[in-house]
Amino acid sequence: NKKIVLTSRPNGEVKTECWKLVHEEINGDIDPGEFIVKIDSISIDPAMRGWINNVESYIPPVQINETMRALGLAVVVDSKHEKFNKGDLLSGMFGVQEYCKLNSDYAIEKIDNTAENINTSIFLSALGMPGMTAYFGLTDVARIKANDTVLISGAAGAVGSIAGQIAKIKGCTVIGIAGGEDKCRYLIEEAGFDDAIDYKSNIDLNEAIAKSCPKGIDVFFDNVGGPTLDAAIKHINHKARITVCGAISQYNAAGLSIHAEIDYIPILFNSARLEGFVVLDYYHRYSEGVKEIVKWMNEGQIKSKEDIRHGIENFGDYFNLLFNGGNFGKLILKP
Ligand code: NDP
Repeated sequence: NKKIVLTSRPNGEVKTECWKLVHEEINGDIDPGEFIVKIDSISIDPAMRGWINNVESYIPPVQINETMRALGLAVVVDSKHEKFNKGDLLSGMFGVQEYCKLNSDYAIEKIDNTAENINTSIFLSALGMPGMTAYFGLTDVARIKANDTVLISGAAGAVGSIAGQIAKIKGCTVIGIAGGEDKCRYLIEEAGFDDAIDYKSNIDLNEAIAKSCPKGIDVFFDNVGGPTLDAAIKHINHKARITVCGAISQYNAAGLSIHAEIDYIPILFNSARLEGFVVLDYYHRYSEGVKEIVKWMNEGQIKSKEDIRHGIENFGDYFNLLFNGGNFGKLILKP
């Protein structure tokens, strides 16, 4: 079994030296209650940056010399567990590795992939955690309604692109912020956004938001934080809702320091709301979100984009793509 372990805690950007490729033998004998899976796809997520800091958050930190934690899809290769049979496709926290022997079904779900022409990576993108983040972040946290002007940062990413498409379905005007011409073109031409702001072109973000959102912002779905949040807050409307989904511009800041220059007075003046959320809180409601998104995908109203990479040994380089914008769509690793 090849696997990636954490060897040291990063300070700032995660250097590849923080990871080590380890080979180990897995004993193929299984006792009653145990099962072995072969990992098919590994989800590379911004949240991993938080998991390797020595900080208690909604989940304990990954320990030094521990296999890196990761969500993934896996196929059962041998089982003496009552719930799982050989050949079953499962989703769960299997880690950054090729194989995994388990004895608990905690947070492991069986996936029905019997539908024809289904690409399994969809269960880590639109029909997985990112899709659920977009869905509940908009419906429950932002409580979007028709005719809202919705601004989305990190718009061409796994969560952002689904969020924008859901907001369009709900009858909103949707503007995305993303880095680069290709991503902005994708948002308008493929994902149906009304407008896109390329924050990496030589623009003043504040002026660009004013131009793209002439009626102000009713909902800001923020994946980025920092100066992007500062700029968006200046344009919020009465009773605006800001969903703090992520703050990727801040994750590499030493000690996870929080950007502290937000002028929050517009939140006061506009009787607005800024609310964070963790999608795991909605785990018990995932089937509701999946049902809706499957329906919209079947109707051709939602497209999912995945960026699939290969080779577990390259995990460290792939992880950094999330922080330099090198990924285009849900970043998935095939070991
Ligand atoms: P993405 O697929 O969006 O990949 C990350 C993207 O972030 C990059 O491609 C890059 O896009 C953008 N980015 C990176 N650094 C910066 C920066 N300094 N300024 C602006 N943009 C930047 O990842 P996900 O869709 O998986 O995650 C998006 C966000 O959602 C993250 O903040 C993540 O933590 C959060 N999240 C929150 C969850 C929750 O439960 N609250 C659950 C899942 C995700 P570009 O090329 O446009 O710069």
